[in-house]
Amino acid sequence: MSKTYVSASLRRMVCDRAKGCCEYCLIPETLALSSHQVDHIIAEKHRGETVESNRALSCSLCNKNKGSDIASIDPETGEVVRLYNPRKDRWEENFKLQTESGAIESLTVIGRVTVRLLQVNGAECLTQRKLLSKTRSLIKPD
Ligand SMILES: [Zn+2]
Repeated sequence: MSKTYVSASLRRMVCDRAKGCCEYCLIPETLALSSHQVDHIIAEKHRGETVESNRALSCSLCNKNKGSDIASIDPETGEVVRLYNPRKDRWEENFKLQTESGAIESLTVIGRVTVRLLQVNGAECLTQRKLLSKTRSLIKPD
């Protein structure tokens, strides 16, 4: 979580760009229990800048699980792998939404470490995404 003040205009820009949905787990802010947060993709302690290109809209759960991490250890290979970066990577190249279960499946090693670290397939998230994908109100990022 960032200590840097987020201006209303930056927040609006980041929310609009993300279409109001968490850029990691896709949950819309309108359905989240608490407001989505403007995440530093590369945390300030890793010298990430407070600029739009280093910001992503994140639900509070993803933001809490991500913390200031920028990488994780792949459970299959033991290698250190960077996390998904919503500004550099395309969501649909790294993840696939299973509409029946609501689960987010990983398609790449980056997707795999991100799904695991951010715990995007927790029971609450699954139920929400399942309902949303059935009502077609889940908007996937471009
Ligand atoms: Zn999320």
